Amino acid sequence: MNNYTKKEIVDLLKDDSQTQWIFDTADGVRKQYVGDNIHLRALIEFSNICKNNCLYCGLRCANKNVERYRLTEEEIISHAQKAVELGYKTIVLQGGEDDFYSKDILCKIISQIKNFDVAVTLSLGEKTFEELKAFKDAGADRYLLRIETTDKNLYKKMHPYMDYNNRIKCLENIKKLGYEVGTGCLVGLPNQTFDSLAEDILFFKEIEADMIGIGPLITHPQTPLKDECNGDFNLSLKVMALTRILLKDINIPATTAMETLVQNGRILALQSGANVIMPNITDFEVRKKYEIYPNKNTILQDLQENKSKIESLIKSIGRTVSNEYGFRKGGKNER
Ligand code: SAM
Ligand code: SF4
Repeated sequence: MNNYTKKEIVDLLKDDSQTQWIFDTADGVRKQYVGDNIHLRALIEFSNICKNNCLYCGLRCANKNVERYRLTEEEIISHAQKAVELGYKTIVLQGGEDDFYSKDILCKIISQIKNFDVAVTLSLGEKTFEELKAFKDAGADRYLLRIETTDKNLYKKMHPYMDYNNRIKCLENIKKLGYEVGTGCLVGLPNQTFDSLAEDILFFKEIEADMIGIGPLITHPQTPLKDECNGDFNLSLKVMALTRILLKDINIPATTAMETLVQNGRILALQSGANVIMPNITDFEVRKKYEIYPNKNTILQDLQENKSKIESLIKSIGRTVSNEYGFRKGGKNER
C-alpha cells in the first residue's frame, strides 16, 4: 500500500466498486498515523485583490464584478487576536496575489502574530526566494501553494501568463527554507484526466509534502469556466483518500469546497482521511467579497458559535479537538 504505481492509482480512481474500500482504508491509515485529533486553523482572508487571472477563480483580475478589499495591518492583527482568544493555535493568512503588501509589511504582520504564540501558515501565492526567506525569518511556519494540476498543458490553459516551472521552483524554495510544505490540486478542471490526477498524487509524494489540500472545482458564473460542470465530489474524496493512503502521516484538511458542494461533505472528508478543518474567521461583511466560488460562506456569522458547532460535529463522529499547534506528527517542525 506504500507504493502504488500510476496505473494502480488510475484503476482505483476509475473503479466505483472500490470507492468505499478506499475511504475506509484511508480512515484506518489516518487513525493509525495521526490519531483522532482534529486540528483547527483560523483562516483570515485579508485581501481579495489579485494580479493573476486563473480561469476558475472568482477573484481573477479580469472579473470586474467584485468589490475589492484589503484589510489593514491593524485589522489583520485584530482578526488574529480574536482567533487566539477563541483558542485557535494556527493562523492562516490567505489572499490574492496582491503586491500592496510588501515584504516588510508582511514580515511585520507575521512577527506580530507570532507574539500570540501560535503557528502561522501563509497562502499568498508565488513569492521570490528572498520574500519567502524573510517571511520564514519573521516566524512563518508553513506555506500553502497548490500546484492545482501537474498536467503542464492544462496548467498553462488555466493560468494565463503564469509559469508552471516557477510554481515548482516556489515549492522547492518553500521546502529548502524549512517551512512545512502544503500543496494540492483541483479536481474537475476541464479535460483533466484520471492519468493526470494520478500524477498529482504521485507528485505530492515525490515532493514529500506535509499538508495536502484537495478540492472539487466549483464553477464561478463570472469566470471563463462558467459553463463547465462542477468537480465530482466522490472523485475529489477519492483523490484525497488515496493521498492519505500513500502519504500516511501528513495533515489533510476537509476543504470548504467539499462542504460547499455536498451537505456534510466535511464530515465525509473527515471519515475518509482528513484531519484538519480551517474555519473562516474573517469578518462576515468582508468574507462575502472573497468569492472564489459561489455559496462559499455557509458558516455561521458568530465566530464562537461557529467554533462550538464545529467542535460538536467533531465529537459527534467520535473524534477529538486538538489543542496542539498541529504540526506534522513526527515532522522536523513538530513542537
Ligand atoms: N492566491 C493564492 C493562490 O492561488 O495560491 C491563495 C488564494 S486562492 C483563492 C486559494 C485556492 O483557491 C487556490 O489554490 C485554488 O485551488 C482555490 N480555488 C480558486 N478558485 C476555485 C474554484 N472556483 N473552485 C474551487 N477552488 C478554487
Ligand atoms: Fe488569484 Fe489565487 Fe484566485 Fe489565482 S486562485 S486568481 S492566484 S486568488
